[in-house]
Amino acid sequence: MSISENLKKVNEDIYNTCIKYGRDPKEVKLLAVSKTFSIEAINEAASAGQIYFGESRVQEFLPKYNLRPDLKWHFIGHLQSNKINKIAPLDICLQSVDSLELAERLNRRLIRENQTLDVLLQVNIDEDPNKFGFLSAGLWQNIEKILELKGLNVLGLMTIGALQESSQEARASFAKLRRLRDSLSEVTKKPFYELSMGMSSDYKEAIAEGATIVRVGTAIFGRR
Ligand SMILES: *Cc1c(COP(=O)(O)O)cnc(C)c1O
Repeated sequence: MSISENLKKVNEDIYNTCIKYGRDPKEVKLLAVSKTFSIEAINEAASAGQIYFGESRVQEFLPKYNLRPDLKWHFIGHLQSNKINKIAPLDICLQSVDSLELAERLNRRLIRENQTLDVLLQVNIDEDPNKFGFLSAGLWQNIEKILELKGLNVLGLMTIGALQESSQEARASFAKLRRLRDSLSEVTKKPFYELSMGMSSDYKEAIAEGATIVRVGTAIFGRR
């Protein structure tokens, strides 16, 4: 199957899943995760109407961003502090703000340059010791501090779900992220509208639990 056929299928699945769970399909954005794939693959997806693209490594991302600044880019990988200056000036959404330290460093740079950046806070919802991201308790501890960082425009939460045995289990951890968002929102009076969750293997479960952004690579571009 070609990239455009894959995209059509994923978009249909998103649409049908939204209808099945009583959601408005316009609420769910498809982020095409193009890491390891060429600019030609990205161009093909863009020609088929795809708008949002995701990349996870700075060195790979920058040349693609420079070739296609007209697309909407999200950075979804762990950002080392020595790469902050490369990412902060770009017109992107940074989905992977995964610590208070990174948030503060980014903010210092953004304030100095009189800029703001759209971000999501990455949550390690399953408390996996091998993953980056705030633990729920850590996010509660730091949320007021983060919301005082005027350079960051915090749009919501992101999580990388554990590979689950069953679709029930996948839904359970996405539901946890949604409930965390709902209570953060209630306490802070901020919407935290975006919920970035779900990948090729579980984006339908994520939509069932309220995802507003699904990050899909393999199902669009093929195996890496
Ligand atoms: C690679 C990646 C994805 C896409 O994964 P697929 O299983 O290929 O759909 C989604 N989110 C993040 C953070 C990734 O690094």
